[in-house]
Formats: sequence, structure tokens, C-alpha cells
Amino acid sequence: MTKVVRCRDVGFDCEGVVRAETEEEVLIQVAAHAKEVHGVEEVTPEIVEKVRSVMIVEA
Ligand SMILES: [Zn+2]
Repeated sequence: MTKVVRCRDVGFDCEGVVRAETEEEVLIQVAAHAKEVHGVEEVTPEIVEKVRSVMIVEA
């Protein structure tokens, strides 16, 4: 199973999509993407909660 987070669903105007095998890995990749693309230096607990809430599981 693959966990998927669409950057747009987190609240950014962005077509970026993060895919990973675990929730932890998704969060790591989202943090890297947010920093590189959106200049977000710190992933706050609010962002983590948002990412979790929009996470999709692909079979
Ligand atoms: Zn993005």
C-alpha cells in the first residue's frame, strides 16, 4: 500500500504529490518538499495534522 499526499490538499497552490510506503516517510518527504518548493523552514504540528488528515492510501 502506498500513502499519498497531494500538496494542494495541504493548502498550497501546487500540483506536487508525495508518495511513500509509510506515514513517517510521507511526512519526511512532505517536509523536504515544503522546504524546497515553498520555503517552509519548519513543519509545525498543525501542518503534520493537516498532512495526516488529507493522506490517501492507495491499494
Ligand atoms: Zn507543493
